[in-house]
Amino acid sequence: MAERTDLRQRIAAQRAEREARALLRTRRTVLRRDGMRCEVQDGNGTPRWLTNFCGNDYLGLAQQFAVAAALQDASSRMGTGAAASHLVCGHHAAHEALEREVAEWLEVPAALLFGNGYLANLAVVQSLLGDNDVCVQDRLNHASLVDAARLSGCRLRRYPHADAEGALRQLRASPGGAAMLATDGVFSMDGDVAPLRELSLAARMQKALLYVDDAHGIGVLGPDGRGSVAEAGLDLRAAPLRLATLGKALGGYGAMVVGDAELVRHLAETARPYIYTTALPPAQAAATLAAVKLARREAWRREKLAALVARFRADAQRHGLELMPSDTPIQPVLCGGNATALAMSASLERDGFWVAAIRPPTVPEGRARLRVTLSAAHTDADVDALVDALAVARNRVGAAADSHVA
Ligand SMILES: *Cc1c(COP(=O)(O)O)cnc(C)c1O
Repeated sequence: MAERTDLRQRIAAQRAEREARALLRTRRTVLRRDGMRCEVQDGNGTPRWLTNFCGNDYLGLAQQFAVAAALQDASSRMGTGAAASHLVCGHHAAHEALEREVAEWLEVPAALLFGNGYLANLAVVQSLLGDNDVCVQDRLNHASLVDAARLSGCRLRRYPHADAEGALRQLRASPGGAAMLATDGVFSMDGDVAPLRELSLAARMQKALLYVDDAHGIGVLGPDGRGSVAEAGLDLRAAPLRLATLGKALGGYGAMVVGDAELVRHLAETARPYIYTTALPPAQAAATLAAVKLARREAWRREKLAALVARFRADAQRHGLELMPSDTPIQPVLCGGNATALAMSASLERDGFWVAAIRPPTVPEGRARLRVTLSAAHTDADVDALVDALAVARNRVGAAADSHVA
């Protein structure tokens, strides 16, 4: 009989390996927040104020006065928790109001509220696909979509990034059973937008359901911030189901699966990550309702964000920094090696900026990066100072690497 593996030994060995490859991950504690400035504890526990350039609060709604006031008001009336899952007795009027508002905003017949985007993705794939089915996915899709396919038990086939022809080939190679083509709308670590029109054609030719995870597109792209699907001009038939997260541009927490009424009802009745979990606190739903209204109405947030993105790209290119082809608020600066990304991040921190290093397995091997993100709550001066600090970081880290080689 094979000998039992010692779990603690294995964990220690795995950690040592991650350490050798500069892949250890640690948390930083945020003590206070004031707009894009955060007071953060550094490695020694000393508090420092940094300008945050790695959050997903693209529209600057996470601390907006009316949103926080809606949370306070609703929690004083309804308390802090929902008390049960939606199908038992946890479905409150605030949830209902948020679902109605989002459905109207995104011009879809139905919307269903989930605890978060990770759960929502698990729910969509698990409730629609099973053993005999196939889920075809972009290589760079978010981890939650990959995990969702694993949970459902379906075959998972991946195609080269943003390659609609590749998606079609993978669908053709998996005849029989039901098929889903799942893609991020905006790729979370690269910032580019999926070729949704071409993908929808591939899906239609192969009778596959197109599912767009628009975690980073909602609120930011398209007319009135309706996201990447609206920007691509796809109707409900072309894109029957999509994900909108509430924790990014909308500044709160939770997620919505929106689209075709029959599909959404099927999720509500059968998806295990919907059924077997407590509903979102109703006060959080009330806060997000206030955020959605602002996101719809205040176009200046998107306009300012777009101007900051253009400013960042022009400044960075003038300094000879290598950017990726992205027009969204996700503007990664590629570093390559894990240690280089960590050193660049540390250099930025010395100059007062917080940009976390993103390393494998979140991104492919050799593609570590600083994932710079912009927000409508940044100023022109913030962006200019960041670009200066990035140029300094590149020179410092470049020089250090040279002296190491010598
Ligand atoms: C963040 C993210 C999710 C998960 O959403 P949460 O609400 O944070 O759980 C899903 N998909 C993509 C593409 C994301 O970036």
